[in-house]
Amino acid sequence: MTQPTPVAPESALRRGLRCRCPRCGEGPLLRGFLKIRDSCPACGLDYGFADPADGPAFFGMSLVGTLGMAAFMAFDFTVRPPIWVHLVVTFPLLAIACLAVLRPLKGWLVVEQWRRGAGPDTWESVGKHGEGRRWR
Ligand SMILES: [Zn+2]
Repeated sequence: MTQPTPVAPESALRRGLRCRCPRCGEGPLLRGFLKIRDSCPACGLDYGFADPADGPAFFGMSLVGTLGMAAFMAFDFTVRPPIWVHLVVTFPLLAIACLAVLRPLKGWLVVEQWRRGAGPDTWESVGKHGEGRRWR
């Protein structure tokens, strides 16, 4: 596993939100919308350590759910639109906002994993739920 190089937190956040390599800040982190590349094309950092799992979705739903619900309630209480306005405008906006924050949040979580020295899984399951894990 590659040892992380110290990166200032604000720089790491910027690299993550821009979906750039945690080490060099230049190479792209993602291929397509959310697929993590195998390695950095600029510096060769192996992205094998990167596994944010459901983190981006969780943080995205929490962020958009909280802020979106506040905006939804403010809009509803002040304008009092008919329900079809929410169906046509509000709910699609919430869905688009959830999708829009996925990439930056994924980039940020991967950069934070690298800064904290995360590595690939070091255990394997032998198939027994909860009791079959063995540490290497
Ligand atoms: Zn790089």
